[in-house]
Amino acid sequence: MLRLSIAATAVLGLASCAAPVATAPTPARPAPAAQDSARPTGGPGGGGGPQAAQPRAYRQVITDRAVTQTGLFKVHRIGERLLFEIPAAAMNREMLLISRPVETTLQNPGGFFGGGMRQIVQWERRGNRVVLRARQFLLTADSTDAIWRQVQGFRQGAVLASYNVEAYGPDSAAVVDVSDLFLSNIPELAPVEGIVRNRSWVDRTWAFADNINVEVTQSGASRPAPAGGPGGGGGGGGGGQPPLRSQTARMMFSMLKLPDDVMMPRWHDERVGFNSSRIYDLSRDVHRTDQVRFIHRFKLVKQDPTAAVSDPVEPIIYWIDPATPDWLKPWIVEGVNKWQPAFEAAGFSNAIFGRIAPTPEEDPNFSLFDARHSVIYWRPSTVANATGGQVVDPRSGQILKGEVNMYHNIMELQKNWYFIQVSPLDPRAQRLPMPDSLMGRLVEYVVTHEIGHSIGFPHNMKSSAQYPVDSIRSRAFLERMNGHVATLMDYSRFKYVAQPEDSIPPHLLIPQVGPYDVFAVKWGYSPIPSARTPDEEKPTLDRWAREQDQFPWLRFTTADATGDPENLTEAVGDADAVRSTKLGMLNLERVVRSILPAAEKPGESYAEVNTLYGQAVGQWGRYMGHVTAIVAGAYTQERYGTGERFRPVEKARQREAVQYLNQAAFQVPAMFLDPSLLRRIENEGAVDRFRVRHAAVLNQLLSQDRLNRLVEFEALAARPADVYTIADLMTDLRAGVWGELSQGSVRVNVYRRNLQRAFLAAADARLNPSEAALTRANNPAPQPAASDVRGVMRAELQDLDRLAQQALARAADPMTRIHLRDVRTEIARILEAGR
Ligand SMILES: [Zn+2]
Repeated sequence: MLRLSIAATAVLGLASCAAPVATAPTPARPAPAAQDSARPTGGPGGGGGPQAAQPRAYRQVITDRAVTQTGLFKVHRIGERLLFEIPAAAMNREMLLISRPVETTLQNPGGFFGGGMRQIVQWERRGNRVVLRARQFLLTADSTDAIWRQVQGFRQGAVLASYNVEAYGPDSAAVVDVSDLFLSNIPELAPVEGIVRNRSWVDRTWAFADNINVEVTQSGASRPAPAGGPGGGGGGGGGGQPPLRSQTARMMFSMLKLPDDVMMPRWHDERVGFNSSRIYDLSRDVHRTDQVRFIHRFKLVKQDPTAAVSDPVEPIIYWIDPATPDWLKPWIVEGVNKWQPAFEAAGFSNAIFGRIAPTPEEDPNFSLFDARHSVIYWRPSTVANATGGQVVDPRSGQILKGEVNMYHNIMELQKNWYFIQVSPLDPRAQRLPMPDSLMGRLVEYVVTHEIGHSIGFPHNMKSSAQYPVDSIRSRAFLERMNGHVATLMDYSRFKYVAQPEDSIPPHLLIPQVGPYDVFAVKWGYSPIPSARTPDEEKPTLDRWAREQDQFPWLRFTTADATGDPENLTEAVGDADAVRSTKLGMLNLERVVRSILPAAEKPGESYAEVNTLYGQAVGQWGRYMGHVTAIVAGAYTQERYGTGERFRPVEKARQREAVQYLNQAAFQVPAMFLDPSLLRRIENEGAVDRFRVRHAAVLNQLLSQDRLNRLVEFEALAARPADVYTIADLMTDLRAGVWGELSQGSVRVNVYRRNLQRAFLAAADARLNPSEAALTRANNPAPQPAASDVRGVMRAELQDLDRLAQQALARAADPMTRIHLRDVRTEIARILEAGR
């Protein structure tokens, strides 16, 4: 793979790069030339019938008109026809077949781009016939074991296509007419449904030493891809499927021989985050059907195996889409290169590069869609996002093609986050638009994150909780640790806990490749020369993983970490989310004050002001979510047989969190009710905005899972006095949500009335779960009778009813009186419904 750097763009043995064929519509089947009259019918799907026609003389089939390319096998074009000449050496060889859209009407500019298939296939000759099979890998066994007979049958896979041999080449290579292979309705090969043959054709072909590329135009009818981002057109309407539309897609099919030299797999370990493949190995020496799981990684081999650090024989190269805006290209190159130090720690210098890909005009033989090339695509979409992934050799986990999708609107997301989180700390962000140099750096950060995915890493949301909050306000600490979070594979964005008086230089506000990344690259990529099998690597890998006991910032998200308050997204400094949230809120107040100065411009609409205000409220909601997570939380660490994995959060911290929510989440911060801002963006909306936010916090706090955990922690506690109980939560919440009812003069404002109604709705959901909630496939609600939650909720509602009754006499205004009567009616309804 990736034989791009030196000789490899070198198109080995390419006789001629076929010029694009005429794109005039072709007849339903190519009109047979005179010498083709005996050509058997047939083609994909085994249309040839049981008895194959007799092959003819080679020169009768591969005539003088043939344009031939030579590579992995020979590719002939004769007019509109496409023939493969497959020698014995290429038969029964597993090959990766991918398709990628080059140009397509299937894409919705409001949606995610990409798509295409991946499949391992194999050509096989059966007498005078050649078939193409789709191989399967989920089961494996040793080929000398008895069970192999069954396993082999499974692995063979389905026959996708079947062809009569038209002729044999000089070396008994089988010539087959595959004109229809990519133009028929084999489900694995066609993104367009119901391909119509006379609106579809083969465009171009390429033959390289290890792969064959075929570009085709497929026309048929499909439903457009759904919109996935803001601005996506609805189409169709009415909530039904969008209507079928004529579609045309130019697709690249790239068929790559899997490596002869199979990389040794490295077993997956849940202590270290890696993308992985799972296979059932029926020859493992254990008394069950054993699942083996191996990590995805590029194959790096040292040029000098004796050196501690050596250049690899083949570096990892990510080709940057020429469609990327020119001004961003250097930032994207840098985003890839930022991984180099991590690979140096794993023993590889100059291991990974970004490089601008040639345009088709500069190199007609280069394609971003070639199965050998790792690529950063730039997508013309309104989706404010990016993705990273990989195509692997299923035998070993070797990454054959890394792929990153950068959607053009990622810049909107970065602008919003940076402005909302840290603009008070960076003068460049205090006027919009931000300068290109800052946006370039933010796009670079996204690229580095997505490359992380593409070289094998999942998210590690635990990382941002591993440094004390005080430390990440210290410039010296940030410089020593390379940032405020130990990996940029966390969703920890920009460092909102820093305060202006901390004087943190802006470059330290952005996550960087950190110590966890260095650790993970070392764990997955360092050679272990003494080991000859994956099992022999295990003691070394275990020793490396145990560094996590000593250095918490090397820890990875625990697999079943529901309820770990350190496993948060969008959080900075979540080692103490209450403290970090308070610091973040100080910045958020500064941000909201700066929205008008930054974004109000004569001659421009208020759309940007509106966006930023909505983002600020959203950020407030995220902060409250971080604090909520502490309640009924349990810290986790993956231990692999060396100790306890779960530890409930201390009682005092849980209580502190609820008290903070009472004071911060259940009030509406005055900063958001600034009329000079609101009167510029909306006629009405603020009340409802906070009703939704309040309901979200209460629903999280009173979720069945969280309440169940409180019951569970209490049951298992060694000393009951150490536990924050469900009763404690109800007492504390009552003070926060219903505090007015105990005052001398009772006045409940509109935001708080909504909050109190949201509390009753959450109680109703616990006591009277809907049929849909009870039968939900994932995580169904328990029958109310099955848990303590019912008793606790009923008692709370009965107490609240009494409180409301007493408060009625002290209501200071008519709306409060109406509200209290409504509260009592609603409580009666909820309690009655549960009977
Ligand atoms: Zn990600």
